[in-house]
Amino acid sequence: MDYVYGPGRNHLFVPGPVNIPDPVIRAMNRNNEDYRSPAIPAMTKTLLEDVKKIFKTTTGTPFLIPTTGTGAWESALTNTLSPGDRIVSFLIGQFSLLWIDQQQRLNFNVDVVESDWGQGANLDVLAEKLAADSAHTIKAICIVHNETATGVTNNLATVRKLLDHYNHPALFLVDGVSSICALDFRMDEWGVDVALTGSQKALSLPTGIGMVCASPKAIEASKTAKSVRVFFDWKDYLKFYKMGTYWPYTPSIQLLYGLRAALDLIFEEGLDNVIARHSRLGKATRLAVEAWGLKNCTQKEEWFSDTVTAVVVPPYIDSAEIVKRGWKRYNLSLGLGLNKVAGKVFRIGHLGNLNELQLLGCLAGVEMILKDVGYPVVLGSGVAAACAYLQNNTPMIPSRI
Ligand code: PLP
Repeated sequence: MDYVYGPGRNHLFVPGPVNIPDPVIRAMNRNNEDYRSPAIPAMTKTLLEDVKKIFKTTTGTPFLIPTTGTGAWESALTNTLSPGDRIVSFLIGQFSLLWIDQQQRLNFNVDVVESDWGQGANLDVLAEKLAADSAHTIKAICIVHNETATGVTNNLATVRKLLDHYNHPALFLVDGVSSICALDFRMDEWGVDVALTGSQKALSLPTGIGMVCASPKAIEASKTAKSVRVFFDWKDYLKFYKMGTYWPYTPSIQLLYGLRAALDLIFEEGLDNVIARHSRLGKATRLAVEAWGLKNCTQKEEWFSDTVTAVVVPPYIDSAEIVKRGWKRYNLSLGLGLNKVAGKVFRIGHLGNLNELQLLGCLAGVEMILKDVGYPVVLGSGVAAACAYLQNNTPMIPSRI
């Protein structure tokens, strides 16, 4: 007996971990296997090839690491940089803060560029730093593509333009944990050197695979980078890639089959359709927030995130109470406000394997909760705004046309 059982489905709207589709759950429901049999390397080869497609790279080298986003960060940093290296990193919310903390604990010399939570990375400051760095002391730019704590999406194309404009050789390292496979992300086109994500986000898998993709320039950098690394050392992976056995240690067989099924579903829908679906769900959510008379934590439209919306509550309401009530009363899981915005925002995650009607269920739940906590919402107002948009903009399901 599940002690937290609630009838019907849990409405999981935290911005990761997200819903796992049934075909993926079924694909993972299997026995262990000998990973040295010919079957697992053969499947791994397809996974590595196909993972490149979600990073939009043909030249990158992917690594599938039994870890989380945090481990993927460490893999990206320690393989490409040496202690003392100067890096520029943008602090705009809890996850960029945690990455910066890791960068500092790994003994890099971090230029922290801070913005208000709810704003994007300050790229004017980046331009100034690049312009002033003719000696090329900056070794890497680290940026979180989508700050999950505030629902802010940074403009990566502009970062690349600035690097090119100043002819600056710094490595371009991107946390794509809540963006890759949901938002427009183009590793090759934007000249990203290391991009990373985690399996529990847009890929809709259990937590447990950190996906890291390295450009040829990053692989080259790894040959001289002096940071201590053992488990995360790309050298070991590359050695086993060459041998055609792929794994320097025991992989999770179940997660590999899950990843195969997850990628198959994404390609069946079409990656561009997946991205368009996220854009639709993001827009519908923002229309609902507006109809409720509430504010988006994200301060400008150019930064609006299509994977998560952080909603600011009036000062007389504790947003943690909204999250608690959602779970206790309506079987709805919303994201808490984190750190600086704790109590001030709640988050609606709209990423991964999710559709329009699921989102409407969440929005209806939020309306009832808002009323519960004393906010004068007009029941149905956000749902109506979202419906009006979705009814006009939802295409036929690709496989059913
Ligand atoms: N980066 C971003 C943008 C995230 O949203 C998260 C987690 O939510 C992380 C990194 C850390 O990932 P993990 O919790 O899988 O270690």
